[in-house]
Amino acid sequence: MPLPESERILLGPGPSLVSPRVMRAMAAPVLSHLDPELMAMMDQMRDQLRRVFRAPAGSFACAVSGTGTSAMEMAVANLVDHKTRVLSVVGGYFADRVAGMCQRYGGQVRRLEYEWGRAVDPDAVRRALSQNGADVVTVVHAETSTGVLNPIEQVAAIAREHGALVIVDAVTSLGGHRLEVEQWGIGACYSCAQKCIGAPSGMAPIVFSPDALARRVASRSFSFDLGLLEDYWVRRKYHHTICASLVYALREALSMVEEEGLEARWTRHRDHHTTLATGLGAIGLSLLPPESDRLWTLNAVRVPDDIDEAAVRAQLLVRFNIEVGAGLGPLAGKIWRVGLMGAGSSPAIVVLLLGALESVLRAQRRG
Ligand SMILES: *Cc1c(COP(=O)(O)O)cnc(C)c1O
Repeated sequence: MPLPESERILLGPGPSLVSPRVMRAMAAPVLSHLDPELMAMMDQMRDQLRRVFRAPAGSFACAVSGTGTSAMEMAVANLVDHKTRVLSVVGGYFADRVAGMCQRYGGQVRRLEYEWGRAVDPDAVRRALSQNGADVVTVVHAETSTGVLNPIEQVAAIAREHGALVIVDAVTSLGGHRLEVEQWGIGACYSCAQKCIGAPSGMAPIVFSPDALARRVASRSFSFDLGLLEDYWVRRKYHHTICASLVYALREALSMVEEEGLEARWTRHRDHHTTLATGLGAIGLSLLPPESDRLWTLNAVRVPDDIDEAAVRAQLLVRFNIEVGAGLGPLAGKIWRVGLMGAGSSPAIVVLLLGALESVLRAQRRG
């Protein structure tokens, strides 16, 4: 296979489009994992991440070598062991993955299930915690499998009232939706590089608040051990060979986030989501979640009864070079997942996607 020659228009659930500026950063010469210049860049990146997460003073932020799932595992590996009572709030594929991860690390996991395609009701979380209590609550901010935004501010407040530490999955929200680690009282929060931040996958942002740092457990994972990673990032002690090119890419992408400004970026994601939702309505398509529960970064579009879901995705790819995602789990075949994240959240992209979708649907209905 030759290398790709033209840019694939990545409008699935991630990876998203990477800007030329980030691609150019990756072409700089490789430095070793303990080079003073690289470590200085990593110090800058820790500061960037603390600001982008809006984390309190005394937090530890870094980027895990790996993807969003690796950051998820780092959060769990350092906060959950066999003595930990966990309440996992589960209304989608990724929340289920977090709950499973807590189980693997020995946690006593109870699941609060709610409907796929709706946001969780904070009162249900309150009832679950009043009945049984928990040491840790896990919840997904942006549930990429259903296109739903969960009310983290309320859930975190309730968890704190009950003395529980909250682990938040912000993989599809960091850089696209408001996220306030300090103000909302979040314990640990993680994300990834390849969704709303706009870098290739391979390094995943994570932050532990002072509360979380105080409640750490002995990690059974070597790769994701918080203490060993603090030794590396802060005290320059070898742990693993970090990929310098990915450090350059993530740092550049975070610089672009801060140059645009977090608020401006959230507004941009909201505005283009709204335009897309209106345009989809005009060509007879609707979104799965009710308006109040919708993500701006990932649109779960219902597949009409008379349409072949996979054939539409294939035609978008072949005729327009556009990638959109399929449904996961119980939503397989029922929705398309259309991401407008990072560089992909633009007016030109919305117009292109609507035109392409309309054309593909019309062709399929003609037969
Ligand atoms: C994409 C995603 C993940 C997993 O991230 P990877 O980078 O694929 O490992 C976890 N949680 C959510 C909500 C996601 O959207």
